[in-house]
Amino acid sequence: MGTSFEVYLYAPDGRRARELFQVAFDEIERIETALSTYRATSEISRINAHAATGPVTTDPEVFQLLTESLRWSRRSGGAFDITVGRLVEAWGFFRGEGRYPQPEELARAREASGWARMVLDEAERSVRFLAPGMGLDLGAVGKGYALDRVARLLRELGVGAALLNAGRSSYFALGRPPDRGGWRIRVPDPLDPDRTISSVELEDASLSTSGSAEQYFELEGRRYSHILDPRTGHPVQGVAQVTVIAATATESDVLSTALFVLGPAKGEALLQEVGGAAALVVTGTGDELQVHDINWPGTVDRPGTRRRTGQ
Ligand code: AMP
Ligand code: MG
Repeated sequence: MGTSFEVYLYAPDGRRARELFQVAFDEIERIETALSTYRATSEISRINAHAATGPVTTDPEVFQLLTESLRWSRRSGGAFDITVGRLVEAWGFFRGEGRYPQPEELARAREASGWARMVLDEAERSVRFLAPGMGLDLGAVGKGYALDRVARLLRELGVGAALLNAGRSSYFALGRPPDRGGWRIRVPDPLDPDRTISSVELEDASLSTSGSAEQYFELEGRRYSHILDPRTGHPVQGVAQVTVIAATATESDVLSTALFVLGPAKGEALLQEVGGAAALVVTGTGDELQVHDINWPGTVDRPGTRRRTGQ
């Protein structure tokens, strides 16, 4: 998935802890084998290679994740869209640093994306692309999904407290450490990742941040994010970072990406509709960043400064 996972857990002894780590990382490996577009042999790569020529029947787990992703595309008005694969390539984000595509290339990539062009058939458990050259990219949801699966397994094996993260951008907090109110997770300052703009304690909840400091590229003095607005085919500008707290990591991962595209106002409307989620949206560029707090449970330090915002 192009990221690294970390697992912290409480176990009765070291031997049991090592067994549990093995289970956790085997599960991550299993999901990587299914979802990663960095692997030519993954199930998603197989779908990408064949679904434009005819329906591809897939396994129940992948089908379920595609169904859920499509549901999020509808709910977010197309802000979240796993069919961005060709756009991601056109902008050079896949194994690349980012570049401005030629207009024809961008037009082709737009023709080969869009959630309405991905057809799922529940009876056949199949996926089909309506446009040639389409490609799925689960970069905005796969790591969250993996965290949920690992959390479920660990819970089944009797683990009462664990903290899981993917790339230190998506977290799942299982239970809480003994004698503590929850797992403390910090939200980095988008201008300076070593600094913190808020920190929260979570128990049986998830937090995901989109738009980390590494997810940018600069071209002719302008900053572009790795998150695309699928409706325009262009990278989102003017949003620096979005952090979402939700019940599951799949949900917080999806929603952080969706809110990055939607911005604070439409993002808030989506969160209210979903219910039970909270967000911290940092907008602006350069030194003029603004923080929008949507049901956020913690206090907030303004990015780039250490002053309190008057919330
Ligand atoms: P995240 O860090 O979870 O926000 O995921 C960002 C990654 O998801 C990008 O690097 C792309 O691979 C992919 N992506 C970019 N824009 C979108 C979008 N609007 N919807 C879904 N996935 C996207
Ligand atoms: Mg995401």
